[in-house]
Amino acid sequence: MKTAKERVALITGSTGGIGMALCKKLHEEGYRVVGNFRCKEKAESIQNSLREAGCVIEMVQGDVADFDSVGRMVQQIETQIGPIDILINNAGIAKDVRFAKMQKSDWDDVINTNLNGVFNCTRHVINGMMERKYGRIINISSINGQKGQFGQTNYSAAKAGIHGFTKSLALEVAKYGITVNTISPGYIETEMVMAVPQNIREQIVAQIPVGRLGYIEEVAEAVTYLISEKSGFITGSNLSINGGQHMY
Ligand code: NDP
Repeated sequence: MKTAKERVALITGSTGGIGMALCKKLHEEGYRVVGNFRCKEKAESIQNSLREAGCVIEMVQGDVADFDSVGRMVQQIETQIGPIDILINNAGIAKDVRFAKMQKSDWDDVINTNLNGVFNCTRHVINGMMERKYGRIINISSINGQKGQFGQTNYSAAKAGIHGFTKSLALEVAKYGITVNTISPGYIETEMVMAVPQNIREQIVAQIPVGRLGYIEEVAEAVTYLISEKSGFITGSNLSINGGQHMY
């Protein structure tokens, strides 16, 4: 059995709040972390700040919404670093607007990134995992994929789709030593959420029984557990990290 140090973990959307926390945590845990990015300038700045925090990771460019771009990225990682044992499908976007005003591009962009992106990345790594008889796949969904959210028909549809994908794939690959699970964060203290006006944020926090926003480190802890060797009996499941806001 390989040690964590020998396991390559690909984290998509590593230049965002949760992605960066995942890179840091998995690096601390000893994994060979590869962060995926879209924008080179942003990646360089994130890589520098991670390096200053003692976290030296590889970063590879790829657009998760583009099947061929993901194919090239996976090939580059497997040639230069090693076979991917762990995939964290974390990249995501939101284009919030009421459905009656939603443009086709708002729908397509969110579905292509948040749902098709999960297909694109998983499809390119799954055969290798099956051959090697080991894999850990974590799909980052959202509380709003579980309960729906005003102005988010596109986002909620994509995030809800991830649950069906996770459970079906978990059934297909269980016998190959691969687990597939979903994590559904609630409101996490990221730049995006902190940019919401304070009075609105207070209204959000008032709906969270724990009485605060979640921390990115709390999401990273849960991912760390689900990708560990010890979690081989957990598959097709969803872990909600939402302070009790939605119990499902
Ligand atoms: P951020 O917006 O901070 O990060 C999103 C990341 O995804 C960025 O690195 C972004 O890159 C990347 N990304 C977007 N589109 C693509 C693409 N086509 N190809 C490659 N990378 C892409 O979001 P968070 O860190 O907050 O969220 C991470 C995940 O967690 C998302 O899936 C989100 O939906 C989910 N989530 C977040 C919650 C929260 O409270 N923050 C709550 C529930 C779920 P770039 O910088 O280049 O745009």
